Amino acid sequence: MGYVNFLPNFSKIFTIGDCNLKLVILDLLLVFFLIPFAFIPMFLVKKNCHYCGKLIHGRADKKFCDDYCRNSFNNQKRNCDSPMVRNVINYLKLNRNILESIVADGVEKVKVPKDKLVRLGYCFTYHTHTFTNWKGSTYIYCFEYGYVELGDGWLLVVRERERF
Ligand SMILES: [Zn+2]
Repeated sequence: MGYVNFLPNFSKIFTIGDCNLKLVILDLLLVFFLIPFAFIPMFLVKKNCHYCGKLIHGRADKKFCDDYCRNSFNNQKRNCDSPMVRNVINYLKLNRNILESIVADGVEKVKVPKDKLVRLGYCFTYHTHTFTNWKGSTYIYCFEYGYVELGDGWLLVVRERERF
């Protein structure tokens, strides 16, 4: 008779009287009134969109009306970088894209005249990192693409193997 274990609680409530009767009422309040209230913020709380300020309907953890507002907000936040930071990032991306366009799919190294990079608008001032091999040749990278000087106006453009 396992359920007998539960019965004493109930019987106590009814035998002792007033005080425990209140406990029962509190329990009922908790179940039928307070607990449903705990869910209200999840569904009914009205908040304003962090980007456009319009009222959002829906879950409490929702911050934006839609993807458009979320993306716009994130872009705006990114644009808080100083012009210098944005400028350098743009050059790094440009350089990376130029190197990528030179290194064909599946190929890891391509020998090209340095002029070609100059013509494509490569900016030799900026790079992300360098690597010097055991022979003392220094590879200059923009993200996963880089180059090494071969002399006589030639470069070897390389793609770095997965390291990031
Ligand atoms: Zn919005």
